[in-house]
Amino acid sequence: MKLVYLVIWYSPIGVLFLVAHKVVEMENPEQTFQQLLYYFLTVMAGLLAHGFVSLPLIYFLFVRKNPLKYIAGVAQAIFTALGTASSSATLPITMRCLEENNGVDPRVTKFVAPVGATINMDGTALYEAVAVIFIGQMQGYDLSIGQIVIISITATTAAIGAAGVPQAGLVTMVIVLTAVGFPTEDVTLILAIDWLLDRFRTAINVLGDAFGAGIVAHLARKELEKMDKDVETGQGEINNGYISSILEEERL
Ligand code: ASP
Repeated sequence: MKLVYLVIWYSPIGVLFLVAHKVVEMENPEQTFQQLLYYFLTVMAGLLAHGFVSLPLIYFLFVRKNPLKYIAGVAQAIFTALGTASSSATLPITMRCLEENNGVDPRVTKFVAPVGATINMDGTALYEAVAVIFIGQMQGYDLSIGQIVIISITATTAAIGAAGVPQAGLVTMVIVLTAVGFPTEDVTLILAIDWLLDRFRTAINVLGDAFGAGIVAHLARKELEKMDKDVETGQGEINNGYISSILEEERL
C-alpha cells in the first residue's frame, strides 16, 4: 500500500516531466498548442453530436418518446460522471435516475446498467479513434481509408476493454496505436488535456448506458408485463420465484 501511495503521490510530478519533455521537444510549440486545441474541439464536437443527436435519434426510433425529457431525467447521473470521470462510480446514481425519474423497470436497470458501465463506452471509443488519428497526423502519417477503418474497429474493441475508471481509455489506446504501428510514447502529447476530455467522454458513456436501458426496457415490455401477470395469477412458477425475489429485495 505504501508503494502504491508513493506512486500516486509522485504521478503529478511524473506527468509534469513527461509533458515538459514533449514541450521542449516541440519545434513550433504555438502550432502544436493550436493543433491540440483543434483536437480538443474535434473530440468535443464528436461527443456532443453522438450524445445529443445520434443517441436521442436511436432512442426516438425505437421508443417513440421524447429523448430530451429522458436526458433531463438522467441529468444528475451525467453531472456525477462529469465530476467523477468514472462510469462505475456513477452507476448507483444512473440506476436511481433511470428508475425514479424515467420509470425504467428495475429488472432492466439491474442488468443493463452494470453491463453498460463495464462494456458500453461510446464516448471512449470515439475519443480513442480521434486521438489515434490526431497522433498519426502529428507524426506526419498519411492515413488511408483502410487504416481509419482499422483504427475505428480497434478503438471500439479497446473501449470495451477499458474499465469504468478515470483515464482508463488512455491506457487501452496504446492497443490502437500498436495496431496501426504508431509510436506509443506519443500518448504523452495528449496527456495534458486528457483529464478534461475524460470527464466529457464519461458523461457520454453514462448517457449511452441510460439510453440503452430505456430501449431494452421498451423492447422487453411485453415479457415484463407477462411476468407481472404470471405473478398476479400465480402461474409461471420459475418466473414467479424470480420476480418475487426481486420484489422482496425492493421492499427491503
Ligand atoms: N473514464 C471513463 C469511464 O469511466 C473511461 C475512459 O474513457 O477513460 O467511463
